[in-house]
Amino acid sequence: MRPIDRRMMLGAGSAAVIAAAAGGFTSTAAQARAPVVGKQAVGFYRLKIGDFEITVISDGSLAFEPSLWNAPQKDVVDTLAAEGRDTRSVPFQLNTLVVNTGERLVLIDTGAGGKFQQSSGTLVTNLMAAGYRPEQIDTVIFTHLHPDHLWGATSANGSALVFPNADYVCSEAEVAFWSDAALPGHVPAAMRQMVEATQLALKAIASRLKRIKSGAEIFSGIASVDTPGHTPGHISVAITSGSDALMVSGDVVANATLSFRHPGWGIGFDMDQGQAAKTRSAFLDRCASDRTLIASYHLPFPALGRVLRNGTVYRWAPAEWRWTV
Ligand SMILES: [Zn+2]
Repeated sequence: MRPIDRRMMLGAGSAAVIAAAAGGFTSTAAQARAPVVGKQAVGFYRLKIGDFEITVISDGSLAFEPSLWNAPQKDVVDTLAAEGRDTRSVPFQLNTLVVNTGERLVLIDTGAGGKFQQSSGTLVTNLMAAGYRPEQIDTVIFTHLHPDHLWGATSANGSALVFPNADYVCSEAEVAFWSDAALPGHVPAAMRQMVEATQLALKAIASRLKRIKSGAEIFSGIASVDTPGHTPGHISVAITSGSDALMVSGDVVANATLSFRHPGWGIGFDMDQGQAAKTRSAFLDRCASDRTLIASYHLPFPALGRVLRNGTVYRWAPAEWRWTV
């Protein structure tokens, strides 16, 4: 019998060749065609930070063209291509986070609720698959109030709260900016509907909304970190328990390649481009120096990893996937 070489393995009809080499068994009913499933099975991922059990829960993803980046298009495309990325459509994962402190269940950001792009809106399904019910969420912390972080807080038509027993926490600067009644009149026409929908969602949670100063502690072991620029009151969230720590970046970084290779490049959603770039560089510098474990909202699921520095350029180093918590 001829040994199976690499050319045979890669060649057309290689399955038949291997079957023949293995003893020549023939097709049976056990090899019947299976239906196409068409979806991923994994929508949550757990880790421990000290005594806290953390679960990354996916709300799906969004996608934007590379022109979302405020940088020469050729440079953006070349940078993506150099790392083997899709150069036409850039995915933005939506990685919300549940923190079980033992005393309360805290959700950080609520996804887009399927209202921003239809590829979002899987948070509740994945939350329940992870063993939680929406009524169990005690507190929702918003890193900021963009649609892909806030709109999942209300039902499809906006009339009901998805997390009916939760209190809500957001920085006072962020709430003040988005609550301004004059805001819809100050933004470009294309953004007006988005701003109005955001104001409606804010109204729905208003009676339970607690405004904090950026940088304030929220609960023991959960503190906000002032990281403005992407939005005026954007915060990151520092989680510490025992000797473990996790930094929840929010939207300080948006992409595992572009935000790290070119921290100076902003995206169209960065409301203050200069401040966002400054915040991003300082954040990357500090996290690289401290070797901080990061949970990032838009990076590839489960978006846990560290920042490595090489001169003024950084690299995202994803954490190893662990099957045990
Ligand atoms: Zn976002």
